[in-house]
Amino acid sequence: MLLAQKLVTKKMSDTSKTFIAESSSKAADLEHRRKINFNIGRYNAVVPGGKQQFADVHLARERAKNVKWRAIETLHQQLEEFELNFSKRGGKVIWAENAEQALEEVINICREKNCKMVVKSKSMVTEEIHLNKALEKNGIESIETDLGEYIQQLDDEPPYHIVTPAMHKSKEDVAKLFNEKLGTPINLTPTELTQVARKILREKYVQAEIGITGANFILSDIGAIAVTENEGNARLSCAFPKTHIAIVGIEKMLPSVTDLGLFWPLLATYGTGQKVTVYNTIITGPRQEGETDGPEEMYVILLDNGRTNILNDPIQRESLYCIRCGACLNACPVYKNIGGHSYGATYSGPIGSVITPNLKGMEDFKHLSFASSLCGNCTEVCAVKINLHELLLENRRESVEEGHTTFNERMAWKIWKAASLKRGLMNMGSGKLKNRVVNGLFKDWKKHRSDLHFSEKTFNQMWKERFKVKS
Ligand code: SF4
Repeated sequence: MLLAQKLVTKKMSDTSKTFIAESSSKAADLEHRRKINFNIGRYNAVVPGGKQQFADVHLARERAKNVKWRAIETLHQQLEEFELNFSKRGGKVIWAENAEQALEEVINICREKNCKMVVKSKSMVTEEIHLNKALEKNGIESIETDLGEYIQQLDDEPPYHIVTPAMHKSKEDVAKLFNEKLGTPINLTPTELTQVARKILREKYVQAEIGITGANFILSDIGAIAVTENEGNARLSCAFPKTHIAIVGIEKMLPSVTDLGLFWPLLATYGTGQKVTVYNTIITGPRQEGETDGPEEMYVILLDNGRTNILNDPIQRESLYCIRCGACLNACPVYKNIGGHSYGATYSGPIGSVITPNLKGMEDFKHLSFASSLCGNCTEVCAVKINLHELLLENRRESVEEGHTTFNERMAWKIWKAASLKRGLMNMGSGKLKNRVVNGLFKDWKKHRSDLHFSEKTFNQMWKERFKVKS
């Protein structure tokens, strides 16, 4: 029975097959690559300018890592402190263990308020829980108010990048999309397109009963959330409607409001190359007596959805330091070739490949950790110095230990190991024979790679010849 279990040949998961198919087709799409390289090129051109504001950018990143370390190591205390302080000013905190609970809470609030329309600012957590679909199912219109997200919503596509949702679209693509969906002339310039979106969206802020945002940071010492954006749409989304709901992953914690002095410029520089983002808002709760604006009610939904599993793992815990700046995506040679949608997950690029298998299951998403050259570019550019490429390796180790490998894979590595450990076996046969045998064995691995070439002479032969010459 045990032997039979061991010999079971694991099948490649459907998510893995889809990933291979999508990434193969995107990698061959030269027009897609041109658009991505153009947009990432613009990002690369401005980031060095942003970095100049730091006297020592490496020290700033190191300090940020230390702050996040403290926040995550004491997360349970920080979250309770946040709840206590936020509640003092009438804010309501809801704890959601998973996506279903978070959605149920949002829908309940919407029903209570007889809500027909929601205005939303950009938030990856709401993508993670598929909020728009749930709202739609319940007859509630949800309007994305960030321009990039609005474009993606018009095109019925999820965000392509965690910072720049429509990065894969050129200005011509957007003009064509507006023409098809909104009937605008096909030749509008980016400024004109922005004006069109602005006019439509402005009306929605006053119609919506509820505004939904994410948060870039949770501030435990003052019981607040901090929202960073360039368009002012998040401010409008939470200031106009009578009710504001913020949905936030629990890892977004910072222990103190004073930490923003470091994290705001760091996020701006690594996210978009700016010194500081245009609008940075600290929201401490609903409108207080005597105040002239702000919502009458404010809820913060603290979302776990697998994050405590990562917290439980002392090695993977580091991935919770992420501030979602997107720098690792822009630096990743894999992302630049296959694009954001091929990952089939909310979070793409290196950080997505690290956290998705831990959030959504190793069996279905371990392939993301294998889709890396381990060049370490991601670690090199990470705003908070997360050892991303080492965490990718750690995921690979965990997935092998949990048995998520195919029978063929296990056999291939066993043979490889046995041969590598025996000099006699390594010396057997000519280079030509080895080429034939090994290239025949690794057919799948070779699908997108050239043949392996063994040297005609073995290492032993070469060593002996060299030794003879010298003596
Ligand atoms: S892992 Fe680092 S570089 Fe990547 S998004 Fe997070 S903070 Fe930015």
